[in-house]
Amino acid sequence: MKSRTLAALSPGSLILPHEIERRTIGAHDVALDIAFAGICHSDIHQVREEWGPAIFPMVPGHEIVGTVSAIGTDVTKFKVGDRIGVGVFIDSCRTCASCVAGLQQYCESGMTGTYNTRERDGKTVAYGGYSNNFVINQDYAVHIPDNLDMAGVAPLLCAGITLYSPLKKWGAQSGMKVGVMGLGGLGHMGVKFAHAMGAEVTVFSHSASKKADALAKGATHFVCTSEAESLKPWNKKFDLILNTVSAELDINLYLDLLTLDATMVVIGLPGKPYTVNVGTLLNGRRRIAGSMIGGIPELQEMLDSCGEKSLVSDVEIIRADYVNTAYDRTVASDVKYRFVIDASTI
Ligand code: NAP
Ligand code: ZN
Ligand code: ZN
Repeated sequence: MKSRTLAALSPGSLILPHEIERRTIGAHDVALDIAFAGICHSDIHQVREEWGPAIFPMVPGHEIVGTVSAIGTDVTKFKVGDRIGVGVFIDSCRTCASCVAGLQQYCESGMTGTYNTRERDGKTVAYGGYSNNFVINQDYAVHIPDNLDMAGVAPLLCAGITLYSPLKKWGAQSGMKVGVMGLGGLGHMGVKFAHAMGAEVTVFSHSASKKADALAKGATHFVCTSEAESLKPWNKKFDLILNTVSAELDINLYLDLLTLDATMVVIGLPGKPYTVNVGTLLNGRRRIAGSMIGGIPELQEMLDSCGEKSLVSDVEIIRADYVNTAYDRTVASDVKYRFVIDASTI
């Protein structure tokens, strides 16, 4: 199946139109016409090889929404015309304990990413969602509630689930104080979800201009971290901190904000390792954890819950020829709060 895409042909190159061939649908596959694809900071890290050597040409995009255009002979989960979403992985081993538990993102032999990877045959390169169409095994796609705006749903497939999952895992609820570091694509979903779950939310942002937006999305407090001494009053105040910052920073300053037995969940993945002051961890029996997206059952649960609450991402819809500018604006923390590509312009 021919596919129009936007691709980086070499590390760090511009994202430009590029034609590829996708497989014809197998018995368990569905084909979709893509409506929108979100731009995740992970796309930028990978195009620029900030996470190590990557596969080129690369078609990024793992926040994909569209409409089913064809189904394989054994497909039961979807029918032609259904609204469908695809996230950060397209396959996994299906047999390990993580896969059986519906935590495919933690597959013991590694999930198969939506792009910048080879599929489980070890040969076929996976191409992502900056494209007009896609083919996916039915088990790795999800249904989109009818009442939600498609463009606003796209970022839920990565940014949304990546914050929903740790908030559920660490039990965000009324009476809990949750800090969200970084108000970008992931962070703004963290604020919305933590607020919806009843927690008191504080945003830590190095962009003073985002204060009004943070409060409008459900935060009670906004701390501008570019102001000296701004963190001091918040020492030992938080039960849970979600760190979504995409750049290097001194996380020890933020570990000090955790109360007894509290946890910082590291979600942002800058290319370089963090340095942790162990003394800061010992003092207060604090913990650092990681969390990566969410499995298929949790992804569907989140979308259904968003349908009930009419909750979507705040997006800026862009044309295909604006993607390179959107990358630069994202890196400059100038995104409100997710760029979403209108696939009809590709
Ligand atoms: P994003 O939209 O660019 O947001 C990142 C935010 O980090 C910025 O908006 C900014 O917020 C803050 N920031 C950026 N540079 C900073 C600096 N120099 N100092 C302090 N703060 C800075 O990115 P995203 O798409 O939300 O992704 C965030 C990170 O999560 C990326 O590293 C991405 O690869 C990673 N990620 C992880 C997972 C996972 O499963 N764990 C999934 C998706 C993405 P303020 O302007 O408010 O300070
Ligand atoms: Zn992502
Ligand atoms: Zn597995």
